[in-house]
Amino acid sequence: MAEKRYLLTPGPTPVPPQVLAALAEPIVHHRSPEFLPVYEQCLERLRTVCRTSSDVLLFTASGTGAFESAVANLVSPGEPHLVVSSGNFGERWAAMVAAYGGAVDHLRYAWGEIPSADDVRARLGESAAKAVWVVHSETSTGVVADVQALAAAAAEHGALVVVDAVSSLGAVPCETDAWGLDVVVSGSQKALMTPPGLGLAAVSAAAAAAAGSSPRFYFDWERTRKAQATLDAPFTPAVSLVSGLNVALGLLLDEGLEAAFDRHVRLGRACRAGAKAMGLELFSPDDDSSAVVTAIRAPAGIDGTDVVRILGDRFGITIANGQADLKGKIFRIGHIGWFDVFDIVTALSAVELALSELGAEIERGVAVTSALEAFEHARV
Ligand code: PLP
Repeated sequence: MAEKRYLLTPGPTPVPPQVLAALAEPIVHHRSPEFLPVYEQCLERLRTVCRTSSDVLLFTASGTGAFESAVANLVSPGEPHLVVSSGNFGERWAAMVAAYGGAVDHLRYAWGEIPSADDVRARLGESAAKAVWVVHSETSTGVVADVQALAAAAAEHGALVVVDAVSSLGAVPCETDAWGLDVVVSGSQKALMTPPGLGLAAVSAAAAAAAGSSPRFYFDWERTRKAQATLDAPFTPAVSLVSGLNVALGLLLDEGLEAAFDRHVRLGRACRAGAKAMGLELFSPDDDSSAVVTAIRAPAGIDGTDVVRILGDRFGITIANGQADLKGKIFRIGHIGWFDVFDIVTALSAVELALSELGAEIERGVAVTSALEAFEHARV
């Protein structure tokens, strides 16, 4: 029998069959009557999911490309910017803003810490910034920041706020307009249940008006905005991915955003309950903010890389290792997008087997029951 594979990482994530079917449709031209209604509906659905009435600009690029669009459009050389980081992606944005010549004030936390609005307020009080750059769900650590509070702190000082919502949009609440988020960036391959390859940026009028002087072409917001206004695209869009994304967004909206947020909370509870029941220590916070990814510390004397390797080699299950300094120290189970509790149970039971094989002292046979119970009784 062909090996069955399970993709249980925090991105890319599994893609529902309805989306795969749309991806397999014959290619249509991006200015044809077959494509335009799909494109229009996809852009409208993106606004709904982002909870914004502003334009959501769609790029054929991964999430990092959409993020680079924000940097290329907002950062001018020498201009002050405050970048908040507490993990891999915050670090990436600090490096990118610096690469465009921005004068970066780096509010840098240890990986896994939770950024504080008071710290942002204090830093902006010391030195002004044109924009504050924050990560909503820091996928490297499992921490979901309170972007509403961070954005409020930025607004008090007249700074724009740019949010990396690559692993949060569609999984945890992200109220672009209500929270005053000027730019929200995301990608197709996480809670949006589509293969990698599309990036998006919801851009407020204030952010659009604040464009800087850095050179840009492919990622120029105005070029894309103008084209989208007439249902065109400045460059050939990945038509199959747009069709797939449109179907995926339809599935998400059929479930209902609130119901999807609730499901992610319950998946997080199930995963944490199972991990703790077998005696493991969590790295990500032990609360409902950890709705997207559960980061678990490798037990003493065990290399987390071996856990990840055994799951892949022996069981066909892909989970994620820690990144950078956390490599081998933690492993991460994703529960974002098209996930149900049986995905969690699969991951936990395989982790249990792998850890036993590696000689860890863990309690056997309790993780699955605890996870199922936590999922069942955790309606929010
Ligand atoms: N930001 C976060 C929080 C992510 O999780 C990721 C991807 O893992 C990215 C940014 C980068 O997105 P991409 O890999 O699509 O460029």
